[in-house]
Amino acid sequence: MSKQRSSALGRAWSAWMSVPLWLQIFVGMVLGIVAGVSLGEQAVLLKPIGTLFVNTIKMLIVPLVFCSLIVGVTSMEDTAKMGRIGFKSFGFYLCTTAIAISLGLGVGYIIQPGAGVPLMQHEEVVQTAKEAPSVMQTLIDIVPTNPVAALASGQILQVIVFAVALGIALVLIGDHGKPAVKVFESLAEAMYKLTDMVMKLAPYGVFGLMAWVAGAYGIDMLWPLIKVIIAVYLGCALHILGFYSLVLSLFAKLNPLQFFKGISNAMAVAFTTSSSAGTLPASMKCASEYLGVNKKISSFVLPLGTTINMDGTALYQGVTALFVAQAFGIDLTWVDYLTIILTATLASIGTAGVPGAGLVMLTLVLSTVGLPLEGVALIAGIDRILDMARTVVNVSGDLVATTVIAKSEDELDEDHYNADMEQSMVIAQQNAESDMETKPL
Ligand code: ASP
Repeated sequence: MSKQRSSALGRAWSAWMSVPLWLQIFVGMVLGIVAGVSLGEQAVLLKPIGTLFVNTIKMLIVPLVFCSLIVGVTSMEDTAKMGRIGFKSFGFYLCTTAIAISLGLGVGYIIQPGAGVPLMQHEEVVQTAKEAPSVMQTLIDIVPTNPVAALASGQILQVIVFAVALGIALVLIGDHGKPAVKVFESLAEAMYKLTDMVMKLAPYGVFGLMAWVAGAYGIDMLWPLIKVIIAVYLGCALHILGFYSLVLSLFAKLNPLQFFKGISNAMAVAFTTSSSAGTLPASMKCASEYLGVNKKISSFVLPLGTTINMDGTALYQGVTALFVAQAFGIDLTWVDYLTIILTATLASIGTAGVPGAGLVMLTLVLSTVGLPLEGVALIAGIDRILDMARTVVNVSGDLVATTVIAKSEDELDEDHYNADMEQSMVIAQQNAESDMETKPL
């Protein structure tokens, strides 16, 4: 009898483990809310499960950021070789990311998703607005006088600056840097694996934290989360339809409508997979088959973008950082805003193009400005829904950059760009055939 029960439990467990992680987290959130509402104040007993999860995330931040940033920067070895195009892409990517996060902050400021979530009344998360340091001091402080101390005390901005500088130096010393790069690549892989392992705990951590929050505040908690979803989707739509259209028509004198038609397949793949790395083959195909970008450009600019360009992720971090600040009643100073822009822009270099990576990087942005990491767990329950939208922006941003840079390098076939879908396919076919003919066997 008990054997039967244990095998039924085993089956239930393996069925649960085969559910995709995002769905497990979502279930954790829903069950947490149900438990919180039914247990009321008692639900605070479940909070330690959430705290344990938050602590394991904190454990990841410094080594993950340090290693993945170095790998991100050193992966641009080709950039040095390709000089001008690399420089253009890097500049373009950083500027658009900074604009995306500013837009996210703007939308978050207007929609106020965290307003009316009085979490700051809870004794453990009372925070007082910090005394604003002067801008000069903030700028001076981003360079660590002792990088080891910065790593040990978790001074994220300083860690980022040191990691980027070290990455550049490793690229500049060429072959001498290779062994160290290998070590960092292997450590970064290990950190990705560890992140994977920690994220498996997310459903339970989210359950504990949501139970605590719902127990203390009831289901009124849900409306702000819906507002976060609205704010992120609105920001993403504005960035794609407004900003990217403007960039395409102003800088490249191209019709944005043709562009969006050409990349619709890649957008659909990005939305459903939530992975820009996974969407790369579809993006490559769109760039050469529908947009008329020369493969020489797309095969360099697109993989680089997939690694370092995350406009959607940055935008989402802007909205969610504001949500957390509002929910915990913390007033941000404008130095904090600038710090968020700077951190999220640099952090996007180290964000992997896989589902959920932005959530881990959000912990980095929050801790830089001293916002409570409990906020990450609140967002985690709805993160997949947000991930779908931000990945579409990430992928579209890479394709905008590729198209604009191709145009500036005279590597864009405008007849192909302006052709309708069927004509495009014919031109792509002809190009492929002529490639075969010109390639020596
Ligand atoms: N899923 C995103 C991407 O692949 C990264 C993120 O989680 O923000 O682009």
